Amino acid sequence: MERIKLHDKCFRVFIPYEKIEESIKAVARQLNDDYKEVENPLFLSVLNGSFMFAADLMKFLNFGCEISFIKLSSYSGVESTGEIKQIIGLNQPLKGRSVIIIEDIVDTGATIVELHKILMNAGVKDIKICTLLLKPDAYKKDLKINYAALQIPNDFIVGYGLDYNELGRQYKDIYVLDNN
Ligand code: 5GP
Ligand code: MG
Repeated sequence: MERIKLHDKCFRVFIPYEKIEESIKAVARQLNDDYKEVENPLFLSVLNGSFMFAADLMKFLNFGCEISFIKLSSYSGVESTGEIKQIIGLNQPLKGRSVIIIEDIVDTGATIVELHKILMNAGVKDIKICTLLLKPDAYKKDLKINYAALQIPNDFIVGYGLDYNELGRQYKDIYVLDNN
């Protein structure tokens, strides 16, 4: 579908699935290389937005690993509220482990900074960040983004797991707000 309407807004295709998949495979190749000798790393997928990315990424990994999920919230509508709440907590021991955070998108970075703190407090040995999308012009934090499949300008996007007020997560392509 070239254009979609969600609630009151129209969106047009911005990144087709073929390009998304190609960039996920490139990230998977890096991970396969970097983690081949790491003992049982844990992928931590940030819900809801990263569910599709996490599922696709895992299919291309060839080393032993675990995956778990955490739910946080920072967004209301199309603007970041800046306030992060942990909704679903972690329930496995994290002390001494290597963790890779899987995010849908890093915008201001408030979410990953908060999650990073939670993981440090839980005694995680090594934390890396793997995001499908990065908005480099919005990101002003010091944490290194270790793996970013795609970089995009400061536009509001939906699809491939990302929502506009909970709609639009199921589309395989990524869409951008269309003001025309
Ligand atoms: P941050 O905390 O980095 O400002 O924002 C991170 C979270 O905000 C992301 O995990 C995502 O859920 C949401 N977010 C940021 N930018 C966008 C966007 O362009 N579209 C959508 N749908 N969500 C976004
Ligand atoms: Mg998210």
